[in-house]
Order: sequence, then C-alpha cells, then structure tokens
Amino acid sequence: MKKLLTVLTLFVLIFVVNLNSFCQDDLFIIVYNNMASETELESDWGFAAWIELDGKVYLFDTGTKGEVLISNLKKLNLDPALIEKVIISHNHFDHIGGLPAMAAELKPNTVVYLPEKLNDQVAGQIKSLDLKVETGFTKIADKLWITEVMENPANRIKEHTLVIENGDKYIIMTGCAHPGIVSICESIVNHFPEKIPELVTGGFHLVSTGDQEVEKISERLKELGIQKAGASHCTGDKAVEIFKKDWGENYIQLFLGDKYIF
Ligand SMILES: [Zn+2]
Ligand SMILES: [Zn+2]
Repeated sequence: MKKLLTVLTLFVLIFVVNLNSFCQDDLFIIVYNNMASETELESDWGFAAWIELDGKVYLFDTGTKGEVLISNLKKLNLDPALIEKVIISHNHFDHIGGLPAMAAELKPNTVVYLPEKLNDQVAGQIKSLDLKVETGFTKIADKLWITEVMENPANRIKEHTLVIENGDKYIIMTGCAHPGIVSICESIVNHFPEKIPELVTGGFHLVSTGDQEVEKISERLKELGIQKAGASHCTGDKAVEIFKKDWGENYIQLFLGDKYIF
C-alpha cells in the first residue's frame, strides 16, 4: 500500500510539474497584421504582437485602430490588463495608432517604450501611461531587449527593434524595419556574438524593392546565421514569396492569428 502511495505521489508530482511547464510556454501571437492566416480575427494594415515570456505579458506595437486590436485580443481570450509593458517600434500610425484606445484597457502607469518623443496630441491622449523614450540597447525585462534607435538616413524615420532571448538563441521582431532589415540584424548579431539568431519576424519593408535586391537581402540574413525567417506586414507579397522560396521549411508563416512557441 505504501509503495502504491509513493508511486501515485510520484505520478501526480510528475504530472503537475509537466502541466506547470506546459502552462509556462513562452510564445508570441500576431494580433494585428494586414497579412492574415485563416482566422476569425480582423485583418487591417499594421502590426502588433502579444508576447508571453516567463509568465509575463508584453505588447509589441498596437496596429492602426485600437478597436480592431482590442476586438482581436478579445476573440483570442487575451486580457489587455495582463500586459506589463508596451513597446512601440516607431512613430507610424500603423504601429502606434491603436495606443490611445489601448491605454484605457491597460493598467495605469503601464510603461510604454518609445524610440522618440511623441507629438503632444498623441502623448496627451495617453496620459495614464508612463512613457519612456529609450535610445540605447536596453534590457527592459529579463530576456527582453530593445535595440538602440536606428535611423533611416533617407527619410529620418527612427525605429528600435525587439529582441527576445531564448536560452542560447534569440528572436528578432521588427516593426517596419525602416533603417533596413540587414542593418538592424547586423547590429543585433554584433551585440549578441555568443548567441544564435533563431528567427527574424515582423515587417521587413521591401514593398518597393526589386526582386534581385530582395534575394540579396534574404541571402545576407542567412549569412548572418539567422535560422528562420517570418516576414510579413510591410514586406510585400512578392518579397514574402521570395523569402518562402529561398528559406523553404525555414520560412515560418507569422501572419495575423499565427502563434510561435519557443
Ligand atoms: Zn513604418
Ligand atoms: Zn508598418
């Protein structure tokens, strides 16, 4: 009887431990994107990702329309009140547009990381939040980084990028990659020389880039040691097709509604 009890206790313990580790899977879900997988969510121009890391929740970008973002989160049973920190990649309507409406759903004083100061009108709409302008490579939580702010010399758009550590690997998540997807990835790879870039995802901004140039960019990302690519949003349909062909099984479709567990 005693032996049976011990075996049973062990069984329960193993089950609980497994269940616990299952519940604590790190993941991200694309909750706003103009490129959509088969989903009941509303697709609209812009980008946002819900990130769960060590049981904490972060939001990267907010899409164009707050009501669309909030409705998508509801459909996915994701509670905005759980969000610890918000990261805005850059000051374009399709990444920050949803923030004023989201501000009402977030806990008061939720920290929002920005690459540059907001105009007063937008800042005024989101008073209840604690807005932080970061300029250097910054660790904003355990295993979560934002890069230095990079600027596209042609259009002076300032943008920073999210880096999620995953053991000896890491994930790169871009908003629109206005400073150039290759420059962004090179800077991150240089910053984490001892780690492996597992995945780059988000918008690569290659809508008006010629096919040959897209192929070169795709090759360069591979040369940097990046294992998988999940281009979407402003990458452009044609460039996404080139990435799909070039990366084969290492192209990961991360459109609206798609989830990546790591
Ligand atoms: Zn943009
Ligand atoms: Zn964009």
